Amino acid sequence: MTDAPASPVRVRFCPSPTGSPHVGLARTALFNWAFARHHGGTFVFRVEDTDAARDSQESYDTILEVMRWLGFDWDEGPEVGGDFGPYRQSERFDTYAEVADKLLAAGKAYHCYCSQAELDERNEKARAEGRTPGYDGHCRDLGDEARAAYVEEGRRPVVRFRMPDAAITFDDLVRGEITFQSEHVPDYVLVRGNGHPLYTLVNPLDDALMEITHVLRGEDLLSSTPRQIALHAALAEIGVGSGTPPRFGHLPYVMGQGNRKLSKRDPEANLLGYRDQGFLPEGLLNYLALLGWAIAEDRDIFSMEEMVAAFEIDRVNPNPARFDLKKAEAINATHLRALPVEEAARRMVPFLHAAGLVDDPLSREESSLLAAASPLVQERMGNLAESVDMLGFLFVAEDGFALDPADAAKLVETEDGQTVVRAAREALGSLDAWTTESIEAALRSALIEDLGLKPRNAFGAVRVAITGRRISPPLFESMELLGRERSLARLDGAVAA
Ligand code: GLU
Ligand code: ZN
Repeated sequence: MTDAPASPVRVRFCPSPTGSPHVGLARTALFNWAFARHHGGTFVFRVEDTDAARDSQESYDTILEVMRWLGFDWDEGPEVGGDFGPYRQSERFDTYAEVADKLLAAGKAYHCYCSQAELDERNEKARAEGRTPGYDGHCRDLGDEARAAYVEEGRRPVVRFRMPDAAITFDDLVRGEITFQSEHVPDYVLVRGNGHPLYTLVNPLDDALMEITHVLRGEDLLSSTPRQIALHAALAEIGVGSGTPPRFGHLPYVMGQGNRKLSKRDPEANLLGYRDQGFLPEGLLNYLALLGWAIAEDRDIFSMEEMVAAFEIDRVNPNPARFDLKKAEAINATHLRALPVEEAARRMVPFLHAAGLVDDPLSREESSLLAAASPLVQERMGNLAESVDMLGFLFVAEDGFALDPADAAKLVETEDGQTVVRAAREALGSLDAWTTESIEAALRSALIEDLGLKPRNAFGAVRVAITGRRISPPLFESMELLGRERSLARLDGAVAA
């Protein structure tokens, strides 16, 4: 099956810079990007910042940061420019005013003078009479006199789009054919009374002006699609845009806990959180791809190159997708384990640095220590942030080293724990060579053979004394890396005074 479009593909990612970027946003960006790259098309990044009350520079900056972190490249948009700019809608208001005037002049839109109170009242009445509420066309064909009277009253009209009185049918790329009856799509506002253009105008208008061929977005926007298709037709009639509306594809809802839609406010929706927890971008993207798409029935790990090669929009599943944090973590861990060791080490550096454990860039000594240590931990980590707990014991300055209080209470500060630590100290104190093998042999002989302990019990106390925690890289290797002097000092420190 092929979904090869006839003309060059142009898709857009067009977030509004409100709040902090969430999972749904990245999923939308990913599907558009993969679609564009699959078809050798153009990925346009447009910023929908027309709502001065809600938009913020901080949010804008964060979205850009996250897009870069995830590794998206865009062909047109912020920082890269392009032939269809500007790409921030706040810089396009002249265009919007001009087109609104043209729509009015052509009778595709009209001035509506109804006040909110009047609209509410009529909707109320419609409900009471069992009719569908929604704009009733009151000002569609106002006479000159009625209009003059409203103007006389000082009312400032909104610009309202005149929806055609016919059903609108389109072939959704994900859901197939969808029809909206005209009575369910009333005339809607394009421009506020104060002249401020709304999403309803600027989003489809920019899609037309930027020659967008495919609109892939969340299902929550499905109800705006018939309006936009009608607007595209009106724009074509007044000579704006290419005349061909984009094809639409609505991506499935993402469900969170308790079968509710994942909300922007859910903690697992926060994209920056993933970066800070040490997710790999490729791990997170792989997981996000699964929210509506599958590369194959029996396979859920893949790279972005593989996704681009395989991505077909008609294989997106229209059913709601369930967000599963555990699965996201597991997929991320798989990607982390698959990294070349040097690359895994390189990616741990910012986390170790943020925790105050290493310089960035690393000193020569830190660099060789990390190179030796990272193969020991890479297999055991689910995300990069865990490198701090795993490797902290190696990089921490000796006077800053402390045992995890709970682990120490359980394994070191007990009578048995003390016996083990003392015996270990004694056995290791006289060791000639300080290697993984000699350390292991000495501890086995002293703790397992002489004291008759089970390995679990024997090495737990030593592990906590040496690394500070019950969970650590392999013990004997860790001790070799830590060195004789520091290891013995830590065993001494663990012996209660
Ligand atoms: N700025 C809109 C949003 O953030 C874009 C919607 C669309 O893709 O049409 O929801
Ligand atoms: Zn009206």
